[in-house]
Amino acid sequence: MSRREQYLQALGVDTWQARAAPVSGASVQAAGAGSAADTDDAGGAALAWQRLRAEVAPCTRCELCRTRTQTVFGVGDTHAQLLVIGEAPGADEDRQGEPFVGRAGQLLNSMLRAAGHPRESVYIANVLKCRPPGNRDPRPEEVASCLPYLQRQVELLQPLLILAVGRIAAQNLLATDTPIGRLRGQVHRFGVSGRPLIVTYHPAYLLRSPGEKRKAWIDLKFVRTELSRLRALAHAPTG
Ligand code: SF4
Repeated sequence: MSRREQYLQALGVDTWQARAAPVSGASVQAAGAGSAADTDDAGGAALAWQRLRAEVAPCTRCELCRTRTQTVFGVGDTHAQLLVIGEAPGADEDRQGEPFVGRAGQLLNSMLRAAGHPRESVYIANVLKCRPPGNRDPRPEEVASCLPYLQRQVELLQPLLILAVGRIAAQNLLATDTPIGRLRGQVHRFGVSGRPLIVTYHPAYLLRSPGEKRKAWIDLKFVRTELSRLRALAHAPTG
């Protein structure tokens, strides 16, 4: 089946299913490993991730700590070049301690896989680490309390590209109230490091509005193209 056919099949309501990753460019791997220095760096980074996770787990910086079951730190490849950021844990995520599980998570997995970036090759986190009760929108003070954790995750990961999933994530990450429809289709910059960031719809929204899946697919193709371009730039000879 051609790549295009795979894409189109992946757009179908019933065919957002795990598929074999396309062969070319599908694998996102950290480059160059093996030296003693690399091993030291890797050990230091692993320790930093561990420390941050341990710091987040008992966090009481905002009132969401009172109603959560557990914090939802994030999951995935800590060498990933693509960081996916959603809004906040929902009921399933709060119960399981992992972002994007349940139906919306399954759709996100299928979208990522069909685009050549399977879940295990990316890192996935949320703006908030704790579930807002009743899945209400995050409050500004909660975002302000929690965002430093995400910023530290970004610093540790140093992704080539961030994909903000859904209006709430996009607007909070970009500190704007511009509608999501106008944020799509362009490369924004996140934080002081100016990491490139692309916006798409939340899979929970796509489940409610399957007619919008085609637009989400356009966004994912944009992610693929942009990531390829950024990889090429990162590997381009300097001087
Ligand atoms: S949402 Fe973030 S800041 Fe608030 S308690 Fe949870 S981890 Fe802490």
